[in-house]
Amino acid sequence: MEKYQALIGFIRKSFSSTEEFISLHEPRFIGNERKYVMNAIDSTFVSSVGEYVNRFEEMICSLTGAKYAVATTNGTAALHMCLLLAGVQQEDEVITQSLSFIATSNAISYCGAKPVFLDVDRDTMGLSVKSVKTFLENQTLQKGDLCINKRTGKVVRAVVPMHTFGHPIRIDELVSLCNRHNIVVVEDAAESIGSYYKGKHTGTFGQSAAFSFNGNKTLTCGGGGVIITNDQSLANKAKHWTTTAKISHPWEYTHDAIGYNYRMPNLNAAMACAQLEQLPMFLENKRQLAKDYIAFGLKNDLNIVLEPSNAISNYWLNALCLSDRDERDLFLAKLNEAGVMCRPIWTLLHKMFMFSGCYVDEQTNAQWLEDRIVNVPSSVKI
Ligand SMILES: *Cc1c(COP(=O)(O)O)cnc(C)c1O
Repeated sequence: MEKYQALIGFIRKSFSSTEEFISLHEPRFIGNERKYVMNAIDSTFVSSVGEYVNRFEEMICSLTGAKYAVATTNGTAALHMCLLLAGVQQEDEVITQSLSFIATSNAISYCGAKPVFLDVDRDTMGLSVKSVKTFLENQTLQKGDLCINKRTGKVVRAVVPMHTFGHPIRIDELVSLCNRHNIVVVEDAAESIGSYYKGKHTGTFGQSAAFSFNGNKTLTCGGGGVIITNDQSLANKAKHWTTTAKISHPWEYTHDAIGYNYRMPNLNAAMACAQLEQLPMFLENKRQLAKDYIAFGLKNDLNIVLEPSNAISNYWLNALCLSDRDERDLFLAKLNEAGVMCRPIWTLLHKMFMFSGCYVDEQTNAQWLEDRIVNVPSSVKI
């Protein structure tokens, strides 16, 4: 099809690449990465104690406005920890979206809890406040300060919305709904560093949030994550549990819980600090690319996904909405054959056997999006 050829040409021109292959999202190390990593090596503090870990946490606080930040080995570990902080335990239920990366439901499973998969909104591609409201009003009741699922008798402990591709959900409405039902909101903000909703950074609305610094994210330090919260006692717990729950002592090894080895190494934190310094430049660059995609889409009758209203997206990955599943499959074949890496949005989580026993609502919008959304190359241009 002609417009696919035009799009391939546009993408090649955007990344001024004569190379065969254009990947979906490449990291850029054009700041102080080498310098800081060498400093970390020279200091001999390469593991989970070191200056860069502390500096990274301070930088995250000043970026997001959160009071506390705790750096972790990756985003999945950060999310697992947030759920433990929320008190999620064996046999609990946790509401989330089926349209997400597998790590969201994996983290819930690590706690021994079961995901409850509810639908998303079409415009944000994230958890729909309306579907959560319908579920809570029809299927749960309050017992003391617990929210109980009437059908299963289980506690609905937390809700995990995810800001898809950096586009924020209606997080303020979700938090006030969940407050009324005594449910904790944990934000899976893995994809949304640098994204704001109504002027506030994503991840600062719920009780806590998890960010990821994996290789394909907006910022990367190889592997890494961070938890943010405004609650000092939760922040202290997070730091304690991510460092094997060791009781602080100059030589004794005593632990007061089954903790985790989830602390970010200083080597990774060195890279993370260098990447964070470049965030404003990366965001501006990505916004310009999104603008170019949008202008191209208007001219060529291609439907580019826009940032939701009231929100500033980091535009981590640009997305196109095609007309149906057949067009999606054709599009993916054509662009990938031409060496332009494109991929579909995730397969809905409830369709995978590990989650086949979980509650799932109608998923009208999630299925509609699964059939139509593809991601196109979105690296920072240099
Ligand atoms: C990347 C990602 C994670 C996990 O992050 P890792 O650092 O890869 O463990 C969690 N949730 C979502 C939605 C993600 O995109």
